[in-house]
Amino acid sequence: MSETVYLETMGCQMNVLDSELVLGQLFAMGYVSTQDMFAADLVLLNTCSVREHAEEKVYSRLGQLKKHKVHHPESILGVIGCMAERDTDGILSRTPYVDLICGPGQLNQIPALIREIKETRKKAISLATYQSRRVDPAERSTMQFDTLEALDLSRRPQPGAALLQPYIRIQRGCDKFCTFCVVPFTRGPEQSRSPAAIIEEAQMLADAGAKEVTLLGQTVNSYAHMENSKRFRLSDLLALLQDVSGIERIRFVTNHPGDFGDDILVAMRNLPKVCEYLHIPAQSGCNAVLRRMKRQYTVEKYIDLIARARDTVPGIEIASDFIVGFCGETDAEFAETVNLVEQVMYKNIFCFKYSPRPGTAADRTISDDVPASTKRQRNIDLLNLQERISLDRNRPMIGKTVEVLVEGYSKAALKAQEAEQSRGQEIDWRRSNQLVGRTRGDKIVVFDDDEAQVGQLAQIRITAATALTLHGVCVTEQASRTDSVLPVLQHSR
Ligand code: SF4
Repeated sequence: MSETVYLETMGCQMNVLDSELVLGQLFAMGYVSTQDMFAADLVLLNTCSVREHAEEKVYSRLGQLKKHKVHHPESILGVIGCMAERDTDGILSRTPYVDLICGPGQLNQIPALIREIKETRKKAISLATYQSRRVDPAERSTMQFDTLEALDLSRRPQPGAALLQPYIRIQRGCDKFCTFCVVPFTRGPEQSRSPAAIIEEAQMLADAGAKEVTLLGQTVNSYAHMENSKRFRLSDLLALLQDVSGIERIRFVTNHPGDFGDDILVAMRNLPKVCEYLHIPAQSGCNAVLRRMKRQYTVEKYIDLIARARDTVPGIEIASDFIVGFCGETDAEFAETVNLVEQVMYKNIFCFKYSPRPGTAADRTISDDVPASTKRQRNIDLLNLQERISLDRNRPMIGKTVEVLVEGYSKAALKAQEAEQSRGQEIDWRRSNQLVGRTRGDKIVVFDDDEAQVGQLAQIRITAATALTLHGVCVTEQASRTDSVLPVLQHSR
């Protein structure tokens, strides 16, 4: 009988992709997936170190697994990803029953680590040995990519919606060293993957049914790869991807405002497949805070970039991240962030309360002196403001027709179907039901239609709007409809 693996993913899109590639390696070894962590022969937690809360969640999960490990000593328990790299000693001392620890740059070694554990019944640990940061990022070796990234479809085992809209990593690591961030320490120096490998992967995914690709990098706009004395930038890569047949939409996340060239905006305007969507984290609207964060741009430069983006790319939607309660953030400094959010009128924002991360410059040198209650209130205030803005921006969409890529059943529909299943009722999977799709500007649209529309581009007339979601009816001409060739969908992202 096949051995089973339970893999839980925490954190960002990079981790989602890493987990997919790890599963691909494990399936090649003969493992099959299980959703029951207490029944699994192999349990892997793919972890995030960006906030304290994320790490505590991992320790809590490891606590739940302690008894399981006592009763099933032959099972293998592993911590992989950023926390494995950042907090190796903590994992070893707090949870000595963990068998496998593997950093995010070593995930290609997981099959060898598992074999080693089975042979020796001893712990197996693999952490980074990063290359020199003095080398020009464009010339750094891409060796790590060659062994993990998927140039073979069996390494991309996710069915349904994930195959419709796969991630493609184009860059690893980060050289920015923002004072609050662990990523340069956990994921190492910035390295860009070769355009040829990216195009080959995109074509392979398109041939398997992918319609939309999202290019991933920590600072994706600083993508740079040297080949035959030519420097390829993100804009060059977007132009090459435009020619991949089968791909209808291209996105890229996430961006750093510091080195965002106009060439990328021009590519967004001129290349029909590149979506009019930019996620560009500001983190704060106050120059003094940005300096303490070492973000390497000013509020004025950020606002200028947003203006250039809106001038160059008609209809562009912009999203951002903010950290509230960063070291020393006064009421007046927070008010400047509120001003920025009011001025830019984002599509949406992601807002986080600052928590110091061991090893970062902010943790070593600046006091985390904003009370937790103030952080909480600022978080609530900023999110409430953005909710009003999102609603104001969505209401004028009523009556307009937008193009969406249909991703699957909406969360509400899936919940209803789960409830029917748990009551033992049979579900009519072919009946009309609520589907969800996304506009090119990344707005979420729900509408009633048939599952066969999943994977298709559909025209939706908007009939109602909330801050988060647009509601509509499908007005795609019957004659231009084609049934989906995708496998039965699992869920939408
Ligand atoms: S740009 Fe700053 S916040 Fe983003 S990954 Fe790099 S160090 Fe972290």
